[in-house]
Amino acid sequence: LTPVPSDIEISRAQTPKPIDQLAEEIGLLPEELEAYGRSKAKVRLSLLDRLRSQPDGKYVLVAGIEILKRCFYCISSITPTPLGEGKSTVTIGLVQAMSAHLKLNSFACLRQPSQGPTFGVKGGAAGGGYAQVIPMEEFNLHLTGDIHAITAANNLVAAAIDARMLHEATQSDKALFNRLVPSVNGFRRFSPIQISRLRRLGINKTDPASLTLQDVSTFVRLDIDPSKVTWQRVLDTNDRFLRKVTIGQASTEKGHIRETGFDIAVASEIMAILALADSLEDMKNRLARMVVGTSRSGQPVTAEDLGVSGALAVLMKDAIKPTLMQTLEGTPVFVHAGPFANIAHGNSSVLADKLALKLVGRDGFVVTEAGFGADIGMEKFFNIKCRASGLRPNVVVLVVTVRALKMHGGGPNVSAGTPLPREYINENLNLVAGGCHSNLRKQIQIAQLFGVPVVVALNAFKTDTKAETDLVCQIAKECGASDAVLCQHWSQGGRGCLELAQAVNEAAQKPTNFQFLYNLEMPIEEKIRTIAQKVYGADDIELSPEAKSKTDYYNQQGYGSLPICMAKTHLSLSHMPEKKGAPTGFVLPIRDVRASIGAGFIYPLVGTMSTMPGLPTRPCFYDIDLDPFTEEITGLF
Ligand code: ADP
Repeated sequence: LTPVPSDIEISRAQTPKPIDQLAEEIGLLPEELEAYGRSKAKVRLSLLDRLRSQPDGKYVLVAGIEILKRCFYCISSITPTPLGEGKSTVTIGLVQAMSAHLKLNSFACLRQPSQGPTFGVKGGAAGGGYAQVIPMEEFNLHLTGDIHAITAANNLVAAAIDARMLHEATQSDKALFNRLVPSVNGFRRFSPIQISRLRRLGINKTDPASLTLQDVSTFVRLDIDPSKVTWQRVLDTNDRFLRKVTIGQASTEKGHIRETGFDIAVASEIMAILALADSLEDMKNRLARMVVGTSRSGQPVTAEDLGVSGALAVLMKDAIKPTLMQTLEGTPVFVHAGPFANIAHGNSSVLADKLALKLVGRDGFVVTEAGFGADIGMEKFFNIKCRASGLRPNVVVLVVTVRALKMHGGGPNVSAGTPLPREYINENLNLVAGGCHSNLRKQIQIAQLFGVPVVVALNAFKTDTKAETDLVCQIAKECGASDAVLCQHWSQGGRGCLELAQAVNEAAQKPTNFQFLYNLEMPIEEKIRTIAQKVYGADDIELSPEAKSKTDYYNQQGYGSLPICMAKTHLSLSHMPEKKGAPTGFVLPIRDVRASIGAGFIYPLVGTMSTMPGLPTRPCFYDIDLDPFTEEITGLF
């Protein structure tokens, strides 16, 4: 329709296929599906086993380079405006083009939206226009509860830490032992988690009665240093007032007051574990390994030491299954893991990608989304996710918009909730060229660092002129893109993305020369410097004294060979959100360094980057409403 109706109107006008029908179409067995209502279902991981044990082809499908080369695409973008440039929309448009129009088996792997942006600045993440996941309100709100499960698990760990510190401070060794290993019918028995802890402490005894007084004391006291607790609480709301809080102020906590803070839920290490685990067992082991702080003697304290890792696995047992939904044109979509590639790892899950690759078969296509610009989401996709999964994409699709290019070319800042300045409505070839020669060129070069061909997808807006879009495509190719095409999926659905589908298929035939950006054996500081210099264009890095001492500690503890997950603004290639284009001549400040040992990465915090976003003056929630009689939601986008 012209004009294109609102996202929610389009979504509501289309009736999704019943989820069991979609599941049957893509080859799932009824017992592999757990329906949540009529239009979404979790898919059991037993599917991987079923397809793995099939003769020939299908196992090779995942492991064989040839097949992966043909079927695995990663979507990223140039440095975006705060409004988003259309990565989700392009991902969906591309699979709609392949599936509904070219009749090729295709799957999109998207991330579950966080309620932070949905009610904050950017809105939902179901795509938009005629390239959406439907029903968009179910996709954007709650879905199948994964983020709630992560929040519950994360905060259980936080509660366990503070309660443990209080109990250790107020009880004798004997009293602690009696409570931690209670006597049932006159017998005491260690739980499996406790036996595992005893082994790690070098106490090879399984009978509680055989422990010496010294053993008892070592066993019952984690002796957590309150000033070295690294675990934060989380909430899936942009609540800036929780960035720094003081806890324990009630008299019942007997003066155990300390400062801590909240992160947005999707930045929880547990979300990263969900995204990177390749089985339930792997997830459970990673949850157990999470380091939550340090003891007074400098030893790391883990979730397993707290005795909470089994309970975490229980809370997360359903979240590990990807959720199946569909696009407006009926193409299957896996929704799994979370966004925020700026403050988290921000990629869809390894398991969703692997399951989708199995399901599309030998000649099929899987398109997976990496958050924000190539400098953060794509860099983490390659250096963290591809290392974990063993999968290698053959093509990177880099999404650009004329409006973002104009901003990088020197146009005024774009912000949510205010009308676009006239430079963005009228033709301005100088600004477009400026943005192409700075940010677009740099982002293409970043993708090429990994040896993978890049196709530029120009997401067309109705204010773009032909001269502007032609100019973008021409410069993108001059900058080294395999191809650059105009995409009209937002106004036309899959048929508006056919040229992109053709272009990525052609690029996929080209040989790749995949390589990681850095060697894991490099010292932590050197890995951070490599990302800063080669990807962001920094002259150097500068570690604060705190970051330096933590880096030294992590090296000492043997965490030095983990990959790096930078927490950096998505609004600039540098650490300064106001610096657009391709900034140079800056030194990247590393304020702090955390370690996510269960997820398996070191987590440097760059500049003033906060791990809990705030709300703007006029958040999206102003426009969101419900008709109590029809239950219709309005204002979601
Ligand atoms: P990203 O994934 O890069 O953050 P999205 O695909 O979520 O971006 O798109 C952000 C918003 O912009 C959505 O509300 C979407 O409807 C809107 N949008 C995307 N492409 C277009 C377009 N070509 N024309 C108009 N609006 C668009």
